[in-house]
Amino acid sequence: MKVDMEKMVSLCKRRGFIFQSSEIYGGLSACWDYGPLGVELKNNVTAAWGRSMVRERDDVVGLDASILMHPRTWVASGHVAGFTDPLVDCKVCRQRWRADDTKDGRCPDCGGELTEPRMFNLMFKTFFGPVEEEAAVVYLRPETAQGIFVNFANVMNTTRKKLPLGIAQIGKAFRNEITAGNFIFRDREFEMMEVEFFVKPGTDEEWLNYWLEERFNWYVKLGIKRENLRLREHTKDELAHYARVCYDIEYLFPMGWSELEGIAHRGDFDLAQHAQFSGKDLSYYDPDSGERFLPYVIEPSAGVDRSALAFLLDAYDEELDKEGLRVLLHLHPDLAPIKVAVLPLSRNEALIPMAKDVYAELRKCFMAQYDDAQSIGRRYRRQDEIGTPFCITIDFQSLEDNQVTIRERDSMKQIRVPVAELKRTLEAKLSGEPLDILPPGGSYWLGFSN
Ligand code: ATP
Repeated sequence: MKVDMEKMVSLCKRRGFIFQSSEIYGGLSACWDYGPLGVELKNNVTAAWGRSMVRERDDVVGLDASILMHPRTWVASGHVAGFTDPLVDCKVCRQRWRADDTKDGRCPDCGGELTEPRMFNLMFKTFFGPVEEEAAVVYLRPETAQGIFVNFANVMNTTRKKLPLGIAQIGKAFRNEITAGNFIFRDREFEMMEVEFFVKPGTDEEWLNYWLEERFNWYVKLGIKRENLRLREHTKDELAHYARVCYDIEYLFPMGWSELEGIAHRGDFDLAQHAQFSGKDLSYYDPDSGERFLPYVIEPSAGVDRSALAFLLDAYDEELDKEGLRVLLHLHPDLAPIKVAVLPLSRNEALIPMAKDVYAELRKCFMAQYDDAQSIGRRYRRQDEIGTPFCITIDFQSLEDNQVTIRERDSMKQIRVPVAELKRTLEAKLSGEPLDILPPGGSYWLGFSN
């Protein structure tokens, strides 16, 4: 089902996924803090990306460059001159807008007259060292990509890899967005997951198509419904200064289709610029053909926060049953903050030791939670609402037969399994095995839970 942003913001706050930054001081606009569950979700998103982009491939390696870079970097990259948005002010209500977000030269809020557009650079400036003078100005990076380009030669020289080769990086980026908002969709501080994939000119089109498909499927594999995703090619006047061709993977957010990830053909723009500004040779020698050339770059560039938001929105569901409203997040098990919750049927003293033992064993392998407060039905609901795929219930029969119940979030189906088989069974179920397949010694139980 479709959920509006307000409901998602409220769930995220109520359950400890995401809080407004510096909330006790009234908040800092477009900056967000990830709470105990949010940080797990975010780590799971970056881990899933890292697995598919680096660990499971031979042609991509990792990098973690510093946020602060030599100021010449941003002159060479074109960001000092070109990373600007046209900004207009409303003469009546004083609100500030990106000119692209206004229609007919009128304020979208009050309809008032707007000022002429002024160009506004989106990079945050700060001072490097103790002297506050123009010479000491550095920028907080607005993308992680430049840290990769300036390290291209270092990586090539130290890895003994050949092209095509990708360099992957996850890290914070900062943009002084004019109209930030829509929860964590557009922030002033956010996190990016970027690959710069260096290829031989002539093979670039093939690789662009490859990455479009690969990246689109990544979101689908992690549970986003295909009908809520689409590819859109940038028109010529939308293209960033460095891009020859660019596609957006768009998601149907509550405010409409919007960019989730950009996949750009950056040509040799960045390496050529850095070679010129640094005076260093950044060309590549191809041992197979004996040629020397500047590689072309295909860049899949995704936002961690925006992806997390899309995963949350797409997972949201509500069901009405005899107990009332069941809110649940159908998060993919790889993304779910808590993989398994251990719930003794009640706080009866006889059940607690066994429940605690099961919990102690499971938490060694899975992100687990123990909960014995309130009725079992309420506890299932709490776990459903944060997307926990499996709950383990320990009841009085468990004390006799050493079996526990596994309850699945989506279907609410339950099976009984011997404690000795629990870890192996959960591993199989979390990696996609249906609950109907029983472990050795397991048995169907009474069907469905509430
Ligand atoms: P937009 O058009 O939405 O401003 P962009 O085209 O400037 O985005 P890119 O430079 O292509 O964005 O950035 C790559 C990805 O980084 C985006 O697809 C998005 O997921 C993420 N991203 C960019 N800006 C922000 C932001 N202000 N807040 C959160 N994520 C962002």
